[in-house]
Amino acid sequence: MIRVEIEPQAEAPYESCCFCHTPTAYWTAIVARKPGAQVACCQDCSKLYKVKDVPTKEDWCASERARRQRVPHFRIAAEDIEAIAHRAFQLETALEKLRGVKGGVKMATLVLLADVSRGLIRKVGKAAEEATKEFVGK
Ligand SMILES: [Zn+2]
Repeated sequence: MIRVEIEPQAEAPYESCCFCHTPTAYWTAIVARKPGAQVACCQDCSKLYKVKDVPTKEDWCASERARRQRVPHFRIAAEDIEAIAHRAFQLETALEKLRGVKGGVKMATLVLLADVSRGLIRKVGKAAEEATKEFVGK
């Protein structure tokens, strides 16, 4: 759990969350960091990650610059993979919570999670294919 607060008067385009890269108006409010050293962090990720996982401002800025410089398909592929990694983390957390839940509900939820995962795997496969085509084409 990371403390986050909404940026006052935040206006789109928002900065990207340091974990899942979703644009967000929320920023970390880590006590041990000076105001200028905070990074953007969405509310979902603030619940999933710990303060020790938060990149430094320098690392976050460098990774954002690198992300913006990637060629389109690689960027899309990379974003899909990041989204999937994020999703996988959420699924893992969800599965963790399911431990101890009774049979029927657990089964239905697992089927649902499996469906979502299959969709994501197809998506990343396609993105990787496009990225490869682009790479080979150059
Ligand atoms: Zn996030």
